[in-house]
Amino acid sequence: MPERVPILAANWKMHKTIEETERFLADFLPGVAESGPEVVICPPFLSLQTAVERCAESRARVSAQNVHEEDNGAFTGEVSPPMLAELGVDGVILGHSERRQYFGESDKALARKVPAALEAGLEPILCIGENEAQRESDETEGILTRQIEADLSQVPEDRLAEVVIAYEPIWAIGTGHTATPEQAQEACALIRGLIEIRSGEAAAAIRILYGGSVKPGNAAELIALPDVDGALVGGASLDPGDFAAIVEAAA
Ligand code: PEP
Repeated sequence: MPERVPILAANWKMHKTIEETERFLADFLPGVAESGPEVVICPPFLSLQTAVERCAESRARVSAQNVHEEDNGAFTGEVSPPMLAELGVDGVILGHSERRQYFGESDKALARKVPAALEAGLEPILCIGENEAQRESDETEGILTRQIEADLSQVPEDRLAEVVIAYEPIWAIGTGHTATPEQAQEACALIRGLIEIRSGEAAAAIRILYGGSVKPGNAAELIALPDVDGALVGGASLDPGDFAAIVEAAA
């Protein structure tokens, strides 16, 4: 079985100016070990260049939080995959529930965004997850199945393992209500099983993260689960000490 190196990704959402990004990285980067889990910082668009420059001498990588599916065109306000790649950005979060909920991000668009990111050399971190009502009415399996099937429909089998999946139950994001280890493991195992239907090789290699109120105090237990290969961290990633402690929990 291929070794799956854990990923700890910091989703800053719409937080931190360029100056605040510099301050965070000056504090956080010296503590990033030369081996061990992969660390990915995902700042707002305007801080990407600074983050890429500051992270150049470290093992930390930089990803964006969204991208358009076309390379260029009349799409006012959008940013394309080659534009991110040109900056030295390493990847991109796609399909975050906040983008699905507030900006109408659809599975149809994601089916184009994921391969477009791969084509530009960006590592997609594809977020999927059910809301509270869907979990309570036993729809979790159906929701995750539909999202995986739709969002990865245009990714060829031999590139599936390059995608990172983040299982983020919406009811756990920013709420302090972390999924139990059993819930996280069950969902991530289900996702791996869905990938296996298309490719056993990809299923063994693909990294699946858990996201939703991960903190220094609960990170180790979640990341140690057999089908969880790291975490996508929102609120707790804004503090360099807390995020460093979460990275340490995966080492
Ligand atoms: C997120 O935004 O992806 C997230 C998981 O947020 P939080 O850790 O704050 O729940």
